[in-house]
Amino acid sequence: MAKGSSSPAERLDRYRSMRDFDRTEEPSGEAAPDGEARPAARGRFVVQRHRARRLHYDLRLEVDGVLASWAVPKGPTLDPKARHLAVHVEDHPIEYADFEGVIPSGEYGGGDVIVWDRGTWSPVRTDDPAAAIAGGELHFDLAGEKLAGRFVLVRTDRGGERSGKEQWLLLHKDDDDAQPGWDPEDHPRSVKSGRTNEEVKADPESLWHGDRPAAEAEVKVKAEGAPEGASAGWPPLPTWDGPTEDELAALDALGAKGRWTVQGHELALTNLDKVLFPGRDDEAPVTKRDLIRYHAVIAPVLLPHLADRPLNTHRYPNGVDKPGFWHKEVPSHAPEWLSRWRNDEADPGETEWYAVPDSVATLVWLANFAAIELHPWTSRLVDVHQPTYALFDIDPGAKTTWDEVLFLARLHRTALEHLGVEGLPKVTGQRGVQIWVPVAPGYTFEQTRAWTESVSKAVGRTVPELISWAWTKSDRRGLARLDYTQNVKNKTLVAPYSARPAPGAPVSVPIEWDELDDPDLHPDRWTVRTVVDRVAAIGDPFARLLGVDQVLPDL
Ligand code: MN
Repeated sequence: MAKGSSSPAERLDRYRSMRDFDRTEEPSGEAAPDGEARPAARGRFVVQRHRARRLHYDLRLEVDGVLASWAVPKGPTLDPKARHLAVHVEDHPIEYADFEGVIPSGEYGGGDVIVWDRGTWSPVRTDDPAAAIAGGELHFDLAGEKLAGRFVLVRTDRGGERSGKEQWLLLHKDDDDAQPGWDPEDHPRSVKSGRTNEEVKADPESLWHGDRPAAEAEVKVKAEGAPEGASAGWPPLPTWDGPTEDELAALDALGAKGRWTVQGHELALTNLDKVLFPGRDDEAPVTKRDLIRYHAVIAPVLLPHLADRPLNTHRYPNGVDKPGFWHKEVPSHAPEWLSRWRNDEADPGETEWYAVPDSVATLVWLANFAAIELHPWTSRLVDVHQPTYALFDIDPGAKTTWDEVLFLARLHRTALEHLGVEGLPKVTGQRGVQIWVPVAPGYTFEQTRAWTESVSKAVGRTVPELISWAWTKSDRRGLARLDYTQNVKNKTLVAPYSARPAPGAPVSVPIEWDELDDPDLHPDRWTVRTVVDRVAAIGDPFARLLGVDQVLPDL
């Protein structure tokens, strides 16, 4: 908790300790250098209305280069009779004072935040407010747009060792600014934007990632220089339920072939006991029935990554031991209900009709078709010329070790953090790692490819002994390639949660950055048999990339 003698950096320790700081060598919230204590005469104050698990107002006073902070469930009031609970919480970095937007769910304090009031404050009866706070009583004047006059914060309970939550009371003196009965909830709009929490939540301009260094924690989702159309955002996607237990039992009960009804669609399934993948280690082989079951069960997590996108597939009807082939054109025997999209720009001989997965039944149909690898387009139907991701593909060479792949992935992490760009890795199910960076609408593939190339070249320059830029595999001397050339319309990377054509049916799996440090991580660690449990336990890390309208910083 705040101590009078400690430096700003020390006072931020608690803020940082509550967040999952990575092992980057970048500084973490050291924007306020040591010993730069400012005269306490008049500092900034801000009150943020924050709808997290519970609504509260965060009262923050600038003290010695950080924001001393109290969470006030009922909010500050001008009513001199009110005594409102104020929980002393960790100091916040000064950069947070202007923040208004959304803290992504799952992160610390997840919810929406508005700048409810702001202005200046000055301590009363002391010139050492940090000492007064440490002593448990602070009298101060506020000059804000809503709040004014003299307030008192007084500690009533130091809180247990465990909770560390000191309880204080916040009250307003009965002075000229006092207004009996004044209720903060009657004044719900932001003094920064005029918007309510609800309006900010619906259309945020900023995201705050408290697990990043303070100077990089705020990510503008509609910064200046945003591409045209960015304000519209990506169209939202529906959500999907999985098959019922009864439906799965009916699949298990089928013979070698038969009709299966799932979510209202009847499918004629064939060769259900055919081995598509040999077993890995001493596991049983994976049959077409197993793949169909997997596609059905993983559908609620997989479909958001496929929906609204044309699909390329890599099919292995004779099993992954035999050569497969690319298949894009929707065949004439496809069911009526299959959603499809016609590529008006197709040249003669090129694929014209693409499947667009939008149901559990579509994924079942694809598995029955032995479409093992699913490669959705990087763009959506709203405009197939606008990528939704900038894609990094760390493609290991024959001599590249897994440790080197991990090292390259961590370099990308550092680079993206340095740029304040949100992205996440996924293992390919084969040997590599990809990094997916969501982008706002309005970019061309040329732009995302150029941006990705710049970042890749910068990363590659730091480890020339690991990287080759040669175009052909034979010229790469067994070295890895950082492949930015996939950022092209109708060039694709394998979908998250798609199976790969290898023994055991390994799966491409999104991971958290910290999982790169897990000694058990391998690029083909998870299979169609094991990834469902992982998703049930920790969810899909890529889910939070969906629909992020991120503007890429200029390089
Ligand atoms: Mn809060």
